[in-house]
Amino acid sequence: MAERLTTDVLIIGGGVSGLSARRWLQRLGVQDVLLVEMDAHTGGNAACGQNAVSAYPFGAHYLPVPDLRSEELLQFLRESDVITGDDANKRPIYNDYFLCHDPEERLFINGYWQEGLVPETGVPDSDKQQISRFFQLVERYKLAKGSDGLDVFAIPLDRSSTDAQFRQLDTSSFASYLDKEGFTSPYLRWYLTYCCRDDYGATLETTSAWAGIHYFASRKGQAANAGAASVLTWPQGNGFLVDQLRKQANSPIRQHLLGYDLQLNDTDGVIVKTCDVIANCTIEIKARKVIMATPQFINKHLLRTVDPERAALTGFHYAPWMVANLTISGLPQGRGLPLCWDNVLYDTASVGYITANHQDLQSGLQKVITYYKPLTDLEPDVARRAAYTTPYEQWLSHIMEELEVAHPGITPYVSQADIWIWGHGMIAPAPGFIWGAERQRAAQTLANRVFFAHSDLSGISIFEEAFYQGIRAAQEAVKVMNNG
Ligand SMILES: Cc1cc2nc3c(=O)[nH]c(=O)nc-3n(C[C@H](O)[C@H](O)[C@H](O)COP(=O)(O)OP(=O)(O)OC[C@H]3O[C@@H](n4cnc5c(N)ncnc54)[C@H](O)[C@@H]3O)c2cc1C
Repeated sequence: MAERLTTDVLIIGGGVSGLSARRWLQRLGVQDVLLVEMDAHTGGNAACGQNAVSAYPFGAHYLPVPDLRSEELLQFLRESDVITGDDANKRPIYNDYFLCHDPEERLFINGYWQEGLVPETGVPDSDKQQISRFFQLVERYKLAKGSDGLDVFAIPLDRSSTDAQFRQLDTSSFASYLDKEGFTSPYLRWYLTYCCRDDYGATLETTSAWAGIHYFASRKGQAANAGAASVLTWPQGNGFLVDQLRKQANSPIRQHLLGYDLQLNDTDGVIVKTCDVIANCTIEIKARKVIMATPQFINKHLLRTVDPERAALTGFHYAPWMVANLTISGLPQGRGLPLCWDNVLYDTASVGYITANHQDLQSGLQKVITYYKPLTDLEPDVARRAAYTTPYEQWLSHIMEELEVAHPGITPYVSQADIWIWGHGMIAPAPGFIWGAERQRAAQTLANRVFFAHSDLSGISIFEEAFYQGIRAAQEAVKVMNNG
């Protein structure tokens, strides 16, 4: 054993949820906190990279403007200089450098780059009517309240109404909900499939209807200087927010430490064994309380002796993803709208690409584009294994084949291509998962000593949920500590 450490609170995992817990513990006056992260950097799915042209995300790249009721999140954005003040109506003024600039979104459909991602170009009137009916439904759901007076769809989703009339939407798939409501248009269904793939790494069939509607009906942002649908983004994506979270607390972070075993002490406290993956030795950490900001597929290994029932939960499914950052010196342009921040190709295997240096006002012809592909064609387990054995050249040729359709002749302009596989990219909100028993079970405190914080526990993987889960776990831990 190389080292023995002791701390009041140990946080395992340095993604958004772990960093959020660390920041909140500091606010609550807990001094002795240690965070361990197995990777060389913090950030998890929201980590980022950088080359000579631009910073770029490896995963998460944006945050929608939040609802005015998201007080903790708004406070964090104020402290991060993302919000610079308020107008007379108390609506936040967002830093113009971070609000996504125009042109924001385009879709390549029927040989043309149209504005916006909802199909329009060449779409028959009967389909347009269905699309409009769907968005009217969404508007009604945005305003809907349950019998308890709470919003039917809220972020964090734990603040949504408990009204069974709405929660029962979770028991069926989004596909069967759309069938039942007569939404048959292939253009609308393509768009909704794109949304499920983009946010959940899932399909209409594998997404719960509640989660499918939540994607649209939970966004109620308000800003003094931006529209309700505006998003905040940075070249490094949510790596910017990770940096801010990290800076807003000063307790130590140890990277390269992988937690692999957790035992409860007989009397009090927890002993966690970690592996220093550089020195290849074990470091034992004794803590009064532990916050696990790690996903359930990791937790089940750490907890298999102390909580075999939790380790045996089977409802957590994860979508694998491939993300590629391509450095380009030019982009042959087809007909229609020029390059935007978000660029999507109709009916392709990817969910398109974002321009990482879109917000960089000095950027010239050189760009980094971040291409996203959720691996939804096969069952997640099969897709994950296939992804691990697919050679780099094969990924690259798939990407270029797709991009050549919208950008003929792009291949020679690519000078660098970094490909990243997320085997367990994000939790998939399968039918029955959001309001089912397993999600709640996995969030329960263990023996008043181990607390759980990962975004998995929301069933939806977005920054806001990871941020909230970190705060919730920190509050629970401190409450127990204060009660002796
Ligand atoms: C491709 C992709 C794109 C996305 N895009 C967006 C987006 O644009 N906007 C958005 O809001 N969200 C997006 N997300 C979701 C994003 O994952 C969440 O917003 C959030 O970053 C999740 O944070 P987390 O802390 O819950 O989990 P994670 O990011 O999974 O963090 C867990 C951390 O624990 C560490 N860890 C794991 N096991 C151990 C161990 N045994 N010991 C020590 N450390 C360990 C990991 O290395 C990691 O750092 C995206 C996700 C993916 C995969």
